[in-house]
Amino acid sequence: MFAQFTLHERLLKAVGELKFVEPTPVQMAAIPPALEGRDLRVIAQTGSGKTAAFVLPMLNRLMGDAKPRIDIRALILLPTRELAQQTLKQVELFSQFTFIKSGLITGGEDFKVQAAMLRKVPDVLIATPGRLLEHLNAGHLDFKNVEVLVLDEADRMLDMGFAEDVQRLANECKGAHQTLLFSATSGGAGLREMTASVLKDPLHLKLNTVGELNEGTRQQIITADHAYHKEQLIEWLLNNETYQKAIIFTNTRVQADRLYGRLVAKEFKAFVLHGDKDQKDRKLAIERLKQGGTKVLVATDVAARGLDVDGLDLVINFDMPRSGDEYVHRIGRTGRAGGEGLAISLISHNDWSLMSSIERYLKQSFERRNIKELKGVYQGPKKVKASGKAAGTKKKKVDKKGDKKADKKVTRKPVSKAKREQPSLVSQDGMAPLKRRKPAAGDTPSE
Ligand code: AMP
Repeated sequence: MFAQFTLHERLLKAVGELKFVEPTPVQMAAIPPALEGRDLRVIAQTGSGKTAAFVLPMLNRLMGDAKPRIDIRALILLPTRELAQQTLKQVELFSQFTFIKSGLITGGEDFKVQAAMLRKVPDVLIATPGRLLEHLNAGHLDFKNVEVLVLDEADRMLDMGFAEDVQRLANECKGAHQTLLFSATSGGAGLREMTASVLKDPLHLKLNTVGELNEGTRQQIITADHAYHKEQLIEWLLNNETYQKAIIFTNTRVQADRLYGRLVAKEFKAFVLHGDKDQKDRKLAIERLKQGGTKVLVATDVAARGLDVDGLDLVINFDMPRSGDEYVHRIGRTGRAGGEGLAISLISHNDWSLMSSIERYLKQSFERRNIKELKGVYQGPKKVKASGKAAGTKKKKVDKKGDKKADKKVTRKPVSKAKREQPSLVSQDGMAPLKRRKPAAGDTPSE
């Protein structure tokens, strides 16, 4: 129950209006210490309810101390325009019974219109770093009275090359009483550096990302002989499965375009999103998907980051994602808020070992499925090791002296990173254990 948190009654009223009943694990873990004013570093994924985990304590602080509105009092920095728009919507919904006003600054919008909005000085500003810096440089803002700074999807902002911009903006908010940093992964040295420089004595919360997988999502695999076979399978699935909206993930832009071309040629209402597409395309794709004009989105991981579309009930992995965390991230988009979802991964011989590593990471076995009309030759490796990986497929690497290297040094499975990042159930400072959800339906193998 949200009433367990010492939140202002107007915020609780908004939570009730949104029909949030039970707090999610990240909300349970992050809201109490954030309300106490602690700095937090939280590892949680899109779809975990992380936005409310920082927005509610932030609004609570702004309400408790009713100052006349002369400056921006809270700043939320995030990597993409869509995420910024989604976050603005949530801030507006949570603050609907308060006097708190929010504003949005992202690239791709009219600079003058934004400057006019800034002159009215919103209490909460939600922004992507690049455009916000332009306004700062133009003298449209100052952050000396910012009380709460939030860095959302901080790992992604660093991946996108915003490290310097974020650092500069954080320096401008040096007077902030509280900083909350959220990321989907534990990140690398860059994120550690940023954490050390922007957070004061932070509480580290690492949510069990595997536990975030929705229980209502069935997870299946279908073996495939090659890329063309996968395209045929996708066409069959889109024609024969019952779904409202589907998203198909590919690992490369080229494959995304190719598949999209094929689907359009077959008259599917599809759209493609990848790193080569500009903001206009991204906005159009998301709007069409939300309104239902498009039913199928073909996307790469980067492009789909932060996407939160209602009614996405079918996820197809054209290629297996390269890590367990990425798999969780992709599949986490379906069957949200208790809805049913179906996740299907197409597995050719290249994908098998990755797939079995991900099964072990999730401690689940995917359901095997065959489509009679399109049954291929490849049905998985002839022999599998105890780990589930294909046996006898490793190539011996020959070093300069001609010696064969030991097997274990030859290949590094990409998923080992995910294993290193296997999230713990307990926050690093010994807070109460976070609850792991029950295994999802469809956990057991059908064979
Ligand atoms: P987020 O991870 O913040 O992007 O949230 C993912 C989705 O879950 C959003 O559509 C939220 O509105 C929804 N959500 C967040 N917290 C809850 C909750 N406690 N109960 C139900 N839905 C929630």
